[in-house]
Amino acid sequence: MQSDAKTTESLVELPKTLAETRSAIASGEVKAVDLAEGYYRRIEKKNPSLNVYLSLTRERALEQAGRVDAAAAKGDSLGPLAGIPVGIKDVLVMKGAPATAGSKILQGYEPPYDATAVSRLEAAGAVLLGKINCDEFAMGSSNENSAYGPVRNPVDPECVPGGSSGGSAAAVASNLAVATLGTDTGGSIRQPASFCGVVGVLPTYGRVSRYGLIAFASSLDRVGPFASNVKDAATLLGVIAGHDPRDATSSPAPVPDYAAEIDKPVEGLRIGVPAEYFAEGLDDEVRASIEAGIDSLRASGCTIQAISLPKTRYAIPTYYLLATAEASANLARFDGVRYGYRSASSATLAEMYRHSRDEGFGAEVKRRILLGTYALSAGYYDAYYLKAQQVRRLLAEEFLHAFAGVDAIVTPTSPIPAFKLGEKSGDPLAMYLADIYTVTASLAGICGVSVPCGTTKAGLPVGMQVLAGHMQEGTAFRVARAVEAAQGR
Ligand code: GLN
Repeated sequence: MQSDAKTTESLVELPKTLAETRSAIASGEVKAVDLAEGYYRRIEKKNPSLNVYLSLTRERALEQAGRVDAAAAKGDSLGPLAGIPVGIKDVLVMKGAPATAGSKILQGYEPPYDATAVSRLEAAGAVLLGKINCDEFAMGSSNENSAYGPVRNPVDPECVPGGSSGGSAAAVASNLAVATLGTDTGGSIRQPASFCGVVGVLPTYGRVSRYGLIAFASSLDRVGPFASNVKDAATLLGVIAGHDPRDATSSPAPVPDYAAEIDKPVEGLRIGVPAEYFAEGLDDEVRASIEAGIDSLRASGCTIQAISLPKTRYAIPTYYLLATAEASANLARFDGVRYGYRSASSATLAEMYRHSRDEGFGAEVKRRILLGTYALSAGYYDAYYLKAQQVRRLLAEEFLHAFAGVDAIVTPTSPIPAFKLGEKSGDPLAMYLADIYTVTASLAGICGVSVPCGTTKAGLPVGMQVLAGHMQEGTAFRVARAVEAAQGR
């Protein structure tokens, strides 16, 4: 069958769901190759202003699209993501494609292998368009820490898209990919999803392999999807989740068919609303949007229960101690010898290490290496690192206890909507506080979804965070889908 150029253009210009796009490809109405080319044309037009893609993997994408078209023409069975254009956050490696992690220190590095999440997407038929901008080593909440310039929020280009997976959220919001992968260590999927008005998923720790993820804080790092709607996000998670012998922390638990269960009625589900997430510092318009979302859950037959998570107040210091400690160890490998950037101006080996790290790392990364090294140093280990580990356990137990009484917990994803570029970049503490509602789930290892839930008067998106217990992604998706459906989507 001949592909109709107009059909392809309309698919690219008017974003469709993953299922619609896939069936247009399966029927031959649209060729995956044309669709990929259409997305590349769109990227060429829009990327200069949004700065979403750092590099394109055109050759690999077109080869894969060609394979999908050939399989469709033969009537072979197609994978769940057949022909779907997807973008990858540049902290996940793809064989032969530059991997920068948003850092100058990795300039020129081309990994010799694929991350597991990446190869699983491709095995399911996805067409990988390229590598996407992010905060340097995923450290940040605004995407302003990228060595390759900030990403702009497609909803309001004066605003940040959130971070650290700002590019992955912006790509979906501006339809520069049907879906993307991001990573979340303390909120880096959920917060940008909320800032850009898309769906972002924090899978349970261990649900998705970290193999091929450039590590920031290994006990917290998670790989997860972004999509324009809950069902697409669920489909993507189903593809990338599951045990991987290459990641010792990946869980052997079977992967349910998330997308199939998504429309199960939420009637009778018990939803916890923790007082601590609606306290001082919460923007009035965000509060109103989330309260309206909660009302819609009540109207769908959920039981809304006030709960308390008093240890929330310890979450930010605990997270920033542990994340920086792990980062200081993980980033020791970037020494100017093995990967990427090497300073040209050194007389001795020791100088080469020093200069390469000094010139290669940005200010926020250096700050974290220093903080983390301090917290791990002999005299302070017990007072800081060990104490933080103990508090982490208490936070996790508090969630366990809460989930004995409720099926899911809903909160605002972020206390504020997207802020202006430059507004917080000079104030690290203000930036850290932007994670106040997201770091708790990161520390506890539980899962969550950020789902669009209204907008402010200025038109900025608001996100609701739906948290569920370990491996309860299905419940989080159902609740998020109910919130989405109540808004007529
Ligand atoms: N904003 C948080 C930080 O800067 C979270 C980052 C992330 O989740 N990767 O650490």
